[in-house]
Amino acid sequence: MPDRPRHLRLLGLPKLDEAASARFASDSALASLKRLHRLAPVLVALHLAHVAVFELYTPTAATALWAHELTMLHGAMAAVAVALGFASSRWQSGSVAAMRRVLFAASASYLLFGGAVAAVDQRIGATTVAFLVASLAVGMVLQLPALTSALAFALGLAAAVVGVGSVPLDRAVWTSFCVNSMTVALVGWALGRVQFAAAMHQFVLAETIADQQRQLHEALAYQQAHAERLANEVTARRATEDQLQDLLTRDHLTDAASRRHLFDCAQGVSGGLVMIDLDHFKAINDEHGHDVGDAVLRETVTRLQGALRPGDLVARVGGEEFAVLLPGASAEHAQMVAERLRLSIATRPMSTAAAEVTVTMSAGWSLLAPGEPLDDALQRADAGLYAAKRAGRNQVCRAPA
Ligand code: GH3
Ligand code: MG
Ligand code: MG
Repeated sequence: MPDRPRHLRLLGLPKLDEAASARFASDSALASLKRLHRLAPVLVALHLAHVAVFELYTPTAATALWAHELTMLHGAMAAVAVALGFASSRWQSGSVAAMRRVLFAASASYLLFGGAVAAVDQRIGATTVAFLVASLAVGMVLQLPALTSALAFALGLAAAVVGVGSVPLDRAVWTSFCVNSMTVALVGWALGRVQFAAAMHQFVLAETIADQQRQLHEALAYQQAHAERLANEVTARRATEDQLQDLLTRDHLTDAASRRHLFDCAQGVSGGLVMIDLDHFKAINDEHGHDVGDAVLRETVTRLQGALRPGDLVARVGGEEFAVLLPGASAEHAQMVAERLRLSIATRPMSTAAAEVTVTMSAGWSLLAPGEPLDDALQRADAGLYAAKRAGRNQVCRAPA
């Protein structure tokens, strides 16, 4: 990361914006506090175990002071560990500054303790193990910013150096102890820095992954919405197409086939063709109104369809004119069906909402030869219809030869 400021580069830390930096500070402090909380009971047990061991231990004149000082230090630290246990639980919901105060108190007290124990240990031999253990533990477990951490380690070092002042030591041993303690403090602090940097890198990685996941989810949601919109559009278009198709093939008032559909269905078909026209239909409209006229037209189609076989087709070809296609019908059959159709209309009156109306129809029929244009057969059937009208209506005539 070339745009990192110098101090970040030196500490091996990634550059974070202000908000991410605040999130990291809070996350890392909370994680350390939780570790401290889990560790506190172990520490209390450890200190009490030390107190017990030194109480049972029968010191010689040379080691009496050493044992007494260690008992005092461990006893005091047992109490401190109890306090830290409570504080680390109590401040987990506090501000970053409050969490860091607890962490600093824990770091400083254990480094002071480690330094002091190391100093006391000089009464029986030149060892800095206690301070080393405290430094490594604090460096690994409790994450603090560089300066705060440095202050805690300096306090620990001071405890070791000041504490050892009360022990009568050879000058070379004293020098070795001080130098070793300094090294231990520095190593502990550096270990803390490495841990801190690792946690920060992990934090950046986790945030990057979360961000990419969010972007992926957004992209996915957008794609899904888009696909849904497209699917809806396709459905709507299909519905419109179906409606258009329906308008082309059906007469919307009577639900009979349209003139166009009749022509489509008649292609390649031979058989009978009946042309029908309601008699004096204008008079029905005039007398009962247009709505009754419409109802009569609908009832007419229902009755015609009821008098036909499934393969036959009723089409509305004009206002009150209908054509019936009888595929495969012979002349006798066509005559018979035309007559049946006429009777289906004429035998009983039609009941509409406003009136009961007696309706009759006239019909002419022709035969559609194989391959013959439908128009020709229609014209012939129309001539038959004309003949039926002239002959007095309510009858069926074959197309004149
Ligand atoms: P004819 O016996 O000679 O066939 O006499 P007509 O009165 O049936 O014949 P005409 O052609 O004079 O009248 C047909 C009438 O049908 C006129 C028109 O207003 C009516 N008509 C056409 N389409 C519709 C419709 O959709 N609904 C209604 N109610 N009337 C319609
Ligand atoms: Mg007419
Ligand atoms: Mg008519």
